[in-house]
Amino acid sequence: MLIFRKVLQTGVQTGLRFQSSGAAARAASAAKTSHGGISFELTDQQKEFQETARKFAREEILPVAGEYDKSGEYPVPLIRRAWELGLINSHIPEDCGGLGLSSFDACLITEELAYGCTGVQTAIEANSLGQMPVIIAGNDAQRKKYLGRMVEEPLMCAYCVTEPGAGSDVAGIKTRAVKKGDEYIVNGQKMWITNGGKANWYFLLTRTDPDPKCSASKAFTGFIVEADTPGIQLGRKEMNMGQRCSDTRGITFEDVRIPKENVLIGEGAGFKIAMGAFDKTRPPVAAGATGLAQRALDEATKYALERKTFGRFIAEHQAVSFMLAEMAMKVELARLAYQRAAWEVDDGRRNTYYASIAKAYAGDIANQVASDAVQIFGGNGFNSEYPVEKLMRDAKIYQIYEGTAQIQRLIISREHLGKYKQ
Ligand SMILES: Cc1cc2nc3c(=O)[nH]c(=O)nc-3n(C[C@H](O)[C@H](O)[C@H](O)COP(=O)(O)OP(=O)(O)OC[C@H]3O[C@@H](n4cnc5c(N)ncnc54)[C@H](O)[C@@H]3O)c2cc1C
Repeated sequence: MLIFRKVLQTGVQTGLRFQSSGAAARAASAAKTSHGGISFELTDQQKEFQETARKFAREEILPVAGEYDKSGEYPVPLIRRAWELGLINSHIPEDCGGLGLSSFDACLITEELAYGCTGVQTAIEANSLGQMPVIIAGNDAQRKKYLGRMVEEPLMCAYCVTEPGAGSDVAGIKTRAVKKGDEYIVNGQKMWITNGGKANWYFLLTRTDPDPKCSASKAFTGFIVEADTPGIQLGRKEMNMGQRCSDTRGITFEDVRIPKENVLIGEGAGFKIAMGAFDKTRPPVAAGATGLAQRALDEATKYALERKTFGRFIAEHQAVSFMLAEMAMKVELARLAYQRAAWEVDDGRRNTYYASIAKAYAGDIANQVASDAVQIFGGNGFNSEYPVEKLMRDAKIYQIYEGTAQIQRLIISREHLGKYKQ
């Protein structure tokens, strides 16, 4: 944190147009350069963020990632270290004590962390997901209280929306909140909650209007809930296919009393808040998938330059080198997609279309590239002593959480067709 504070104070805005520090900074930067239009040069400050995250991921996360994968243990020392370095919660606004980094800058960090281990990166990213409803919809007191405490201590939070019976169909959730005096009484069950057992507080989406005819934009209410509130029961830690050190659980809410001060915006505003958060969190999810794909490409390339068959390095067989070329194309394009989606957020524009394109594309190619990396490793690729087997397992979730690959296509097609119908 201290390191980045210094960088922020002394950082030189030498980057060109495709940077993230808002329209004014971009205009100023563009003016300093001899050419207009798009440039892909990062600012010195962004390079510093990227380099700090890269060093941490490669020197501290990567060497222990395999052990965490085997044990499924939550990576507390890594999360503490990330917190000390300012690599977690980087988007908490400055008026709440945070660094207030742009979406673009945060995504650069996320890609690097994911290169080390996406189990660790998902645990870190789930904090952003839990915090985002408070950042976009919290009042001053809520923001200071719940975001402020995460700057003071390395705490985790979680986003509780999915239920056993409703994931993609968010409007199908059944958890009920009923107002009684100055409190709401909550009953229901949530499922697949990242950081579920480690969170200090939750963002919780509930149904407040039981009328099935009530529209989604009025029927749901979002709350901030202290994790130690009586009536909250944690399920077991789920053992998932990949990203195994990330903590995923079901959570039951039984007569949980939440003060009315913890309602975000007001009764009925919850659906919009819960969905609005995704526009901001899908670019970093795409950045995470890109980091995984870059790692798979690097591992496969190194291996192809070492392994010999038929008297040649396998990289010299055209079939293998073309696979590497395809993998490289996908990684480069996924990176451009998440950077564009993040840049739109920082420019203050509605980025739903770009966020879904980035999330869908990066999620898909992470799976393709990881699978191709296993192929290039041959039999060794199928074995857990080599790194790519874990990457292939870890990649799958990017096509499922924060909106499945199918739901992203639903959103993209709706946004696309909407432009033609105007
Ligand atoms: C490891 C992990 C971590 C997670 N973390 C969180 C978290 O922190 N917080 C949280 O709230 N949730 C979390 N989730 C839940 C996740 O977001 C959901 O699993 C996801 O949205 C899909 O919902 P579902 O599992 O109910 O699948 P379903 O919605 O039942 O979908 C099943 C299949 O049908 C397809 N499908 C569904 N509807 C349509 C449609 N209209 N058109 C086309 N295809 C469709 C889906 O794409 C999918 O292939 C997590 C899940 C996992 C596995």
